[in-house]
Amino acid sequence: MHLFDMHCHLELMANGEDVAQQAKSCELTLLDTGVLPSEFETEQRRHASNDSVYVACGLHPWWVTDTLKDSEIEQLIERARSYPLIGEVGLDFSNAHAQYAARQIRVFERLVSACSANKVEGRLLSIHAVQSASNVLDILEANGTCQQANVIFHWFSGTGDDLTRARKLGCYFSINERMLQSRRGRAYAAQIEEGCLLLETDFPLEPGSMCTARQICTSLNTTLKKLAQLRKTDAEALGEHIVQTSKRLLTSATA
Ligand SMILES: [Zn+2]
Repeated sequence: MHLFDMHCHLELMANGEDVAQQAKSCELTLLDTGVLPSEFETEQRRHASNDSVYVACGLHPWWVTDTLKDSEIEQLIERARSYPLIGEVGLDFSNAHAQYAARQIRVFERLVSACSANKVEGRLLSIHAVQSASNVLDILEANGTCQQANVIFHWFSGTGDDLTRARKLGCYFSINERMLQSRRGRAYAAQIEEGCLLLETDFPLEPGSMCTARQICTSLNTTLKKLAQLRKTDAEALGEHIVQTSKRLLTSATA
């Protein structure tokens, strides 16, 4: 079966280009989410001739500190006006990052409102929300984002109420192995509508480490198997459904 990793970071791997090449020969498609807008163009050029890689332009909330250059934010907003694949973006209010919460909110609000003001067919957003899912949902709702874009919560960890809200808004959820290690993550993964499920790895585990396409496939297959067990369904049928959803999202974003 063809596999789709809907959230990974080739540029954070020591050998991202090798991994991208390996993906071509093992029926693996990657959504390569970015962390800094200034790196987007290089990353896009690097994988331009590789049909297995879709490069998204992102500004990861961990990079939104007081030393982040304003030009990074401007580049993100500029891209978001016309480019369909956006991520990783969002908010992170956990201890290590909460001190920059106000700046994170300003960036995310600007991004989301730029998206609303500039319609792009099939736009897709891969979202990071740690201890901030309700804030992210407030901003998305205020801008009508979910009505005009495909919003993917990557590794969802909000409250049950947040999950209900996100499901009602028609969001997608990309699930990884680590999400299924927590009881709450498993409970969420069991509830989400089949048509809104996606698989991801969020690899590399450590920035700057090596990876292989085979490791990605193994992780995606492990997640799929666990997901099928949790949902008491057939892994192959579930996998096929997830493949179709992933394909539809990526092709509608790049049609
Ligand atoms: Zn990530």
